[in-house]
Amino acid sequence: MTTPTQTDWAAEVRRLADERNALILAHNYQLPAIQDIAHHVGDSLGLSRIAADTDADEIIFCGVHFMAETAKILSPDKRVLIPDANAGCSLADTITADELRAWKAEHPGAVVVSYVNTTAAVKAETDICCTSSNAVDVVRSIPEDTEVLFCPDQFLGAHVQRETGRDNIHLWSGECHVHADISPAGLRDAVQTHADADLFIHPECGCTTSALWMNSTGDIPAERTHVLSTGGMLGAARNTKAGKVLVATEIGMLHQLTKANPATEFLPVNPEAACPFMQMITPDKLLTCLREGTDEIFVDPEIATRARRAVERMIAIGG
Ligand code: SF4
Repeated sequence: MTTPTQTDWAAEVRRLADERNALILAHNYQLPAIQDIAHHVGDSLGLSRIAADTDADEIIFCGVHFMAETAKILSPDKRVLIPDANAGCSLADTITADELRAWKAEHPGAVVVSYVNTTAAVKAETDICCTSSNAVDVVRSIPEDTEVLFCPDQFLGAHVQRETGRDNIHLWSGECHVHADISPAGLRDAVQTHADADLFIHPECGCTTSALWMNSTGDIPAERTHVLSTGGMLGAARNTKAGKVLVATEIGMLHQLTKANPATEFLPVNPEAACPFMQMITPDKLLTCLREGTDEIFVDPEIATRARRAVERMIAIGG
């Protein structure tokens, strides 16, 4: 299929969305064309909340599979579609439900906290889900003397350990290959090249620990370093007076940051940090999804019920 022109494509996407009474949601890491056509752009939790509240008959989730699954878990009666169901997530793939059950058996009585980047089956084995913006608060809600199993992201888990000062948090050694490639060496180079820039870092990044160490050595002033979720980055972008900001996360985020504050120059710490799974959602596939009603997301109702409890606890703690 060819896309005749950007204008024709956009008009056809919106016409089909109206015809189907469908709401198009796009994650912050999506391609700019997808972000610009969506009814709402945001992080996975924010978008799932919108999905749960909408009167639309269908949700078209432009993101990766676990995000569309989370929307389906929160809105079991709505039809949820993703333009390509093969859009996975290397972080979600680092732990299975069987592996989590075996880990729990080694730590009876521990509370399981899972990042929202997990499959529905893993969420069903979880006590409380978390996002990068509320992970610290979720762990603080658990009694100090109770062991915590935190999965699957080791960098986010290390951030939570640092912030809470707890020594009874066990970390699963998963990572997102895109964020892990934003390395301490790359961060040092970027900071040396742009010595006057502020720094926004997502806590999933491999460079977070390095950035905090550079704060302590004075290589980056602490007041110019901000460890932020994607939602937190957007809020900080609107308010910053900095002329230049280095951004350590997936590069799709730069589109929303630049729209939020065109006066500031937002630069990627690693310009190659593009998520191949997010980029599987192309303009052509979105059009096909709307024309043919594919790919639909299904979650086993029993798994969905158990997973919903963990996700609703996460929402209750904020995000
Ligand atoms: S950027 Fe990483 S965590 Fe996010 S969807 Fe891609 S692989 Fe998963």
